[in-house]
Amino acid sequence: MERRSPPRNASGIEAVVFDYGGVIISPIVEKVAVLADRFGITMPELLEVLLGPRESGDHPWHRCERGEIDVADIQGLLGPWADAAGLDLHGDEIDVLMDPTYSVLDVVVERIGRLKAAGYRTALLTNTFAEYRPTMQQVVPFDHFDAIVESFEVKARKPERAIYEATAVMLGVDHSRILYLDDFDQNLRPAIELGWSVVHVTGPEQSLRELDRLVPLD
Ligand SMILES: [Mg+2]
Repeated sequence: MERRSPPRNASGIEAVVFDYGGVIISPIVEKVAVLADRFGITMPELLEVLLGPRESGDHPWHRCERGEIDVADIQGLLGPWADAAGLDLHGDEIDVLMDPTYSVLDVVVERIGRLKAAGYRTALLTNTFAEYRPTMQQVVPFDHFDAIVESFEVKARKPERAIYEATAVMLGVDHSRILYLDDFDQNLRPAIELGWSVVHVTGPEQSLRELDRLVPLD
């Protein structure tokens, strides 16, 4: 396989890895806020019931992201988590979450294409379901990436270490040469432990500022 030489930069970065939700598209907070209002609880409290805790485990959302069950199975398996939170779910919560309103952060998509054209290796690293891939392919051109790392295919999800190791292998780049952008701090920890440089993303302008600083383009 032909390998382009990455541009020189002070940090020795050769590959840039992007999370999807909150980095390439806006966070899906509006729909979550509507659902949280329904129960009179906070968004983090509701997300823990529907999407599971920060640590990876056997929550049905986590299992679906590892390709172990279908999206259609999640809602029916939420009982223990809803009971623990004292919530009486209506039954449509996962359907609402799977049809979110969001905007594509075009400036970030454009930058990914430019980074690849400049010789950087690029990857998409996302916790996601098989059912979501057609939507994601419409949002971001897959040819912007040298590697597409989807949790359901790898059978591991962030923050499980295996998916970060798989990303480095697919990129063919040493851990110390990788820069990673993610909006969830718990997803950054394993990357840091492996020696990746990281950006905790808070918005598209900040993403571009950090990319300008760490992997500048002409
Ligand atoms: Mg994210």
